[in-house]
Amino acid sequence: MSTISPLIAGNWKMNGLTHSLDELAELARLLTTGEAPRALVVVCPPATLLAAVAAQGASSGIIAGGQDCHAEPSGAHTGDISASMLADAGAQYVIVGHSERRTDHGESSDTVREKAEAAIGAGLKPIICVGETEAQRNAGDAESVVAGQLATSIPDAAGQHEVIVAYEPIWAIGTGRTPTLDEIGQMHDTIRARLVDRFGLSKGESIRILYGGSLKPQNAREILGVANVNGGLVGGASLLAKDFYTIISGV
Ligand code: PEP
Repeated sequence: MSTISPLIAGNWKMNGLTHSLDELAELARLLTTGEAPRALVVVCPPATLLAAVAAQGASSGIIAGGQDCHAEPSGAHTGDISASMLADAGAQYVIVGHSERRTDHGESSDTVREKAEAAIGAGLKPIICVGETEAQRNAGDAESVVAGQLATSIPDAAGQHEVIVAYEPIWAIGTGRTPTLDEIGQMHDTIRARLVDRFGLSKGESIRILYGGSLKPQNAREILGVANVNGGLVGGASLLAKDFYTIISGV
């Protein structure tokens, strides 16, 4: 078992109205009445609920995170949110480079790195997402694609600040399909090797590498038990407190 304390982050995506805070209250109840979780628990709601999640989650150890931030600290960017705004609302983490942002908004790895730098500048811990498409995996290119994304998306500042990497094969997100445990292990080992190459042994071994993509109560324990998997990034299954709690309890 890894010596890095695990982290489980829930990504609510564009889901959640005020009544979703009932589900957060239920998660808090489960976390405080059950066995104390080994994992740090982060919930990334839509921005409209961020301040409420930060305030409501504090007493049960639930940490709030944003789902994206702009690379600039402020300015004429209608509809966007800066990293310092997320921090001001109570966030401690922010997801950057999620494949839905890369695809829907055409974000390149350069953009992702600038966002991660902005997050660090605002005192947030960026959760930097990487992952291959199904075609890239089938062509045998998964590792080189992910290596390229890592090299460009992770800022040099990661050498001095905390960042988290999330490996999310795009074809596993929201599909109910996952790589085999061997495939997950192989990719996480490769990512670890890249981090050690770039940041040195001590730093490279301290960076959490999360797995994301159809992590469910049924498969969480075995996936989270793979070497160099230091937690998970959970989409759909984070919307139901009971399911999310089962995943958290799996580490
Ligand atoms: C995600 O979008 O980050 C994700 C992992 O989604 P899901 O768990 O629904 O596959």
